[in-house]
Amino acid sequence: MSNFTHQTITCPHCGQHIRMALDASAGDQEFYDDCPACCSPIHLQLTVDEVHRTIQVQVDADDEQIF
Ligand SMILES: [Zn+2]
Repeated sequence: MSNFTHQTITCPHCGQHIRMALDASAGDQEFYDDCPACCSPIHLQLTVDEVHRTIQVQVDADDEQIF
């Protein structure tokens, strides 16, 4: 079983839907990626649920603004 999964996130800056490949094998992660549409940094937090083999992705803007 592959630890890679694809999830669609929504850019907190422009609302663009972005499909991303996520690697669950590394466990919980926190990283930044640039939106391909507006080039703004997106703050992503990955939470791996080992029991259910699912990944939860939380997305927020770099400025901690809540949408
Ligand atoms: Zn964007």
